Amino acid sequence: MNMNGKIRKILSINITLVFLATPGIVNAEKLTMFVVNYPLQYFAERIGGEHINVVFPAPADIDPAYWMPDAKTISDYQQADLILLNGAGYAKWVNKATLPRFRMVDTSAGFKDQYIEAAEIPTHSHGSKGEHAHESLAFTTWIDFSFAAKQAKAIAEALSRKRTDLRHIFQKNYATLEKDLIALDITIKEVVSNNHARPLMVSHPVYDYFARRYGLNIRSVHWEPDDILTNEQMMELNSILKEHPAKWMIWEGNPMKQSAERLKVISVDSLVFNPCGNTPDQGDFLSVMRQNVENLKPAFQH
Ligand SMILES: [Zn+2]
Repeated sequence: MNMNGKIRKILSINITLVFLATPGIVNAEKLTMFVVNYPLQYFAERIGGEHINVVFPAPADIDPAYWMPDAKTISDYQQADLILLNGAGYAKWVNKATLPRFRMVDTSAGFKDQYIEAAEIPTHSHGSKGEHAHESLAFTTWIDFSFAAKQAKAIAEALSRKRTDLRHIFQKNYATLEKDLIALDITIKEVVSNNHARPLMVSHPVYDYFARRYGLNIRSVHWEPDDILTNEQMMELNSILKEHPAKWMIWEGNPMKQSAERLKVISVDSLVFNPCGNTPDQGDFLSVMRQNVENLKPAFQH
């Protein structure tokens, strides 16, 4: 065999090896992750890409923070390779169900010492969706985008521990996601910088982390965007406005037209900052958050 023949032989062996090896890589068992809210699903998918399956089984029309999965769904969570939790008391059912502790990842555990105790614990009822009470810990951690990045990092680390062979891919994908989250963080700081101390109203007590991170002066009522404002609610707001003269109401979703009009009469404009705890109707986490930032701008102009 001459030199060329040798090289050809080596090449053909190598090609055969690659061929044999490839199906193994492609078919390597994908990790299945179950998550408790949409932001965690989005972060996990960005980081894990094609290498993982992410399952978020909560129905689309429900707030996953107050959701109670049925027995079948809980058993699906129990089978997962990893269960991603938000922490800070989010999704109370997690403590009631028997889940495999060593496969649970509390994505906010790293900043536990910065959890916010809710100032008040309002009990809340509204016809269409039943009652819920807000617990003593605020849990909408991810709209402080520095916390969102920490939660995403916890996911990247948990994935890397499970699949050390893919560590570099997970770290690289995390770095790209982190860049997007930090860009949001910086943009919000810029948007509010003129006027961050101006009084604002929020319609639901889910903006604590957001307000602390960006230095906002908020007061909260406990309303739902799809309920029409009652006289009682307007009276409550008017009494708050006496000491907290806000010109803007921040909503989780588009308010009813009648509600926005009632607010307009007392010179309060409405804007939407959707925390996006559940899957958005359109777009994804990033596009919803970018739209939120756009929506904020008029409230901080002179
Ligand atoms: Zn509520």
